[in-house]
Amino acid sequence: MSANPGRQHAIQNITNRVPADVGPTDFLGKIWAEDVFNLDRMEWALSKTAFKAIKKTVQTGEPLDAATADVVAAAMKEWAVAKGAKFFSHIFYPMTNITAEKHDGFIVTNSDGGAITEFSGSLLIKGEPDGSSFPNGSLRMTNAARGYTAWDPTSPAYIMHSDNGATLMIPSVFMSWTGEALDKKIPLLRSNAAMNKAGQKVLELMGETEIAALNSSCGAEQEYFLVDTNFANSRPDLLLAGRTLFGAPPAKGQEFDDHYFGAIPARVQVFMQDYEDQLYKLGIPAKTHHNEVAPGQFEVAPYFESANIAADHQQLMMTLMKSTAKKHGFMCLLHEKPFAGVNGSGKHVNWSVGNATQGNLLDPGSTPHENLLFLLFCGAVIRGVHLHGPLLRAVIATASNDHRLGANEAPPAILSVYLGEQLEKVFTDIKEGNIHVGKKGGEMDLGLSQILKFERDPGDRNRTSPFAFTGNRFEFRAVGSSQSVSGPLVAMNTILADSLNWIAEQLESEFSSGASQADAVVSVLKNLMTEHGNVVFGGDGYSEEWHKAAVEERGLKNIPTTADALPALREASVVELFSSTGVLSPMELESRFEVYAEQYILSIEVEAKLVIDMARTLIYPASSEYLSDLAGTTQSLLAMGVELDSSIAKAVAEHMNAMIASTQSLADAMDKHDFESTEAHMQFCANEILPLMNEVRAAADALEGYVSDELWPLPKYQEMLFIK
Ligand code: ADP
Ligand code: MG
Repeated sequence: MSANPGRQHAIQNITNRVPADVGPTDFLGKIWAEDVFNLDRMEWALSKTAFKAIKKTVQTGEPLDAATADVVAAAMKEWAVAKGAKFFSHIFYPMTNITAEKHDGFIVTNSDGGAITEFSGSLLIKGEPDGSSFPNGSLRMTNAARGYTAWDPTSPAYIMHSDNGATLMIPSVFMSWTGEALDKKIPLLRSNAAMNKAGQKVLELMGETEIAALNSSCGAEQEYFLVDTNFANSRPDLLLAGRTLFGAPPAKGQEFDDHYFGAIPARVQVFMQDYEDQLYKLGIPAKTHHNEVAPGQFEVAPYFESANIAADHQQLMMTLMKSTAKKHGFMCLLHEKPFAGVNGSGKHVNWSVGNATQGNLLDPGSTPHENLLFLLFCGAVIRGVHLHGPLLRAVIATASNDHRLGANEAPPAILSVYLGEQLEKVFTDIKEGNIHVGKKGGEMDLGLSQILKFERDPGDRNRTSPFAFTGNRFEFRAVGSSQSVSGPLVAMNTILADSLNWIAEQLESEFSSGASQADAVVSVLKNLMTEHGNVVFGGDGYSEEWHKAAVEERGLKNIPTTADALPALREASVVELFSSTGVLSPMELESRFEVYAEQYILSIEVEAKLVIDMARTLIYPASSEYLSDLAGTTQSLLAMGVELDSSIAKAVAEHMNAMIASTQSLADAMDKHDFESTEAHMQFCANEILPLMNEVRAAADALEGYVSDELWPLPKYQEMLFIK
């Protein structure tokens, strides 16, 4: 019997693992934002007038004049060069979930053949990557493929270090030559502007006179797995698909709940500290980290920031998480379901909106007037989720997140809103006319701030809801761990903008018929709850009863797969939502549908090819070697007159036959190329390809339970999940 060297080697190697040596760390005050060209640094480096101009741009997003841009570019270059940077890059956020960058040198040569550095305002502001190979959903034909990047001055430039160099990174938007958004940043900025505009109207109608610009905020909790690189490197599925396509459940999994919030393994602790120091240098406020439910699973969450910055930082966090893990001998898995039967990973997007004058508008506040504003904004969210549940499902739709949604540990694929018992009662009372206005000096006294204090107790949270109010914000819990937070934030800002516009219209008409402020608010919210209250649900979102009641009694949609979810982007109501708010033109939206559908199809096809390959070239040969060993032993024993029970050999042969048959069916299915439409192709992936992949897997996982451990070619779940 020849043992499988790769896997055995990996097992031996991991027993000698020790935490990586990262050297001593500096104190927070010293390293905080040291690699960021932020306002403090600009104030120090620029003249008073130049600083005033750039500060205005940073705070309002207003364009920068060419002269100031030159001055800022020169100061930025000087700072970056002093920190060892020889290159700069516009970093942008194409319609994938990762970032893109094109590096250019600061170098120019002079007539004497000497090398000097140069960086003008126009280079800072605009770049021209040859964008033809980025997904654009037929927005640009390749013969007119020019796309360009433009600096987003509201997100500060920073330095990325590598082992022997550094690069100045400039956060940018990415658009086609004709001005269409080709990225995830432009819609986010537009959605924020739309929300601001609509919010201003409502606040004005509510008698506010001083109203600062409204901004959305985001704090994203990121879950992830770490697997030793020795194991990951011998799993083609982890390397290429980011998840295990095979693997029998281990004898011990997460049943004991002995990992959740437990002591962090020493190697992981060192990884986290190294990682967080890098985040601090980049001005990213990492705030909490802990073990998650599954063994080998962890979470990191930064303190919340304005949505645009948070989205950029979140991308950077994912990039750094992967590269830092490597240094520590780990592969970081951001996939939503790397291990079947074990908890998956999500990214809870905590979201609120507010400004400098009225504060957080999703916080009940301490006066009845603040309570009214809160109820309006909260009501606007309820209406938005009800009207656009399918859109919210579409923006979290990926092949990988489908494995997690609706499974036992993750929110169901039905969008409902959890408000908490007390707030739900307030809204129900409003709906049923049980709120009486005018008791105390003409003002409604809901005493919300008192009531809602309770809601902030995490014990009171409903962890089974995809969209939960948590005291002063909403938490979109169904977002996938590998996703950019941009799509979900765009959707939330846009549905809020739309609902605030609707509320403004309703308030106007109430006021014009002479209603008092409190009466008007209650009346608008009463109508709103009558129409949309069905989306509010406080019970167990995992239960079967809810899956039934949500659809049959409440008219909500259960949308299990991406193939079912993405077509929402083509619905007339969604096209209208995005074009009326100015967030995405119909053409831009259509291009997004095409890009995301293509990504879904591609990722399933890549996995299917891998399944075929691994079944045929790894699992079948190992099983067949085992079977021939068994056959040999049986023969030899028989010659000695001893009869060996043949049930094991039969079982192995049966599973091998089943595996090879379903592998062939999968290969045949993959040969189909003529599809009527993108939708049909997606449905084929969801309903034909994936089930066949599962069939192959079932047979292979059964074989794992028979074939000699020494011969088994793939690291097993129990080895990968428990970190040493
Ligand atoms: P939990 O795991 O208990 O839900 P965490 O502390 O892990 O909570 O994460 C909560 C996230 O919500 C953090 O990123 C936090 O900064 C963020 N957050 C807190 N308040 C707000 C707010 N008003 N708006 C947006 N995000 C917020
Ligand atoms: Mg958390």
